[in-house]
Amino acid sequence: MMSTLVIEQIPVLADNYIYVAHDPASGATAAVDPAAAEPVLAALQRHGWRLSHILNTHHHGDHTGGNLDLKRATGCQVVGARRDAARIPGIDVEIGEGDNFLLGHAAAMVLETPGHTSGHIAFWFPDSLALFCGDTLFSLGCGRLFEGSAAEMWASLAKLRALPAETRVYCAHEYTAANGRFARLVERDNPALAARLDQVNRLTAAGRPTVPSTLGEERAANPFLRADIPAVARAVGREAGADPAEVFGELRRRKDVF
Ligand code: ZN
Ligand code: FE
Repeated sequence: MMSTLVIEQIPVLADNYIYVAHDPASGATAAVDPAAAEPVLAALQRHGWRLSHILNTHHHGDHTGGNLDLKRATGCQVVGARRDAARIPGIDVEIGEGDNFLLGHAAAMVLETPGHTSGHIAFWFPDSLALFCGDTLFSLGCGRLFEGSAAEMWASLAKLRALPAETRVYCAHEYTAANGRFARLVERDNPALAARLDQVNRLTAAGRPTVPSTLGEERAANPFLRADIPAVARAVGREAGADPAEVFGELRRRKDVF
């Protein structure tokens, strides 16, 4: 049975997004990366939804800070990476690469995306064209390499890049404007990037989120998904055809000190 999620986006802390995903067919409802409990409880009350699950992409506090309070308040199950079970507060269901996770009737495929952390995972709901990718992929950017190599992160991003173009990228942070300032220095002549930057400026000026974007937009404009494009390699002083993992690593190093 195919089921399409209703997704509510909740801005919290300085620049985090929590997503509450609801399957109308079954009533199942998940909080994705709840930094805090109260905003999730308020959203549940607003909609008359009952929380059945927490989905964690990784263990960082700004993604799991609400786990235990939400679990106490709702009796929900906490779903996270098997590889990170020791670091996910309150974990009940341990999952890994290729596993199917059912949120009611809505099926997700689990993708392991190490690099930002060693146990990072993403949840892909193909029927809803929704990707919850935590701190692996951002709009016009990607997560910092805290626990992984450039080659690992490039492989993780390549895995996400291969999903359908219409997929919406529900990343966990609003970093787009700052990412865009770096991206523009990498690819000055990319019309897709210029168009996206115009859109980001308009949204930001109106106080609106720039997230989600689509994977098609990111493939066309996000330099961190484009390390195998000759212009991007040349922008970081490499030859066209250089090892994309190497080009990616150099991009990431430059962004770290940008
Ligand atoms: Zn993180
Ligand atoms: Fe984060």
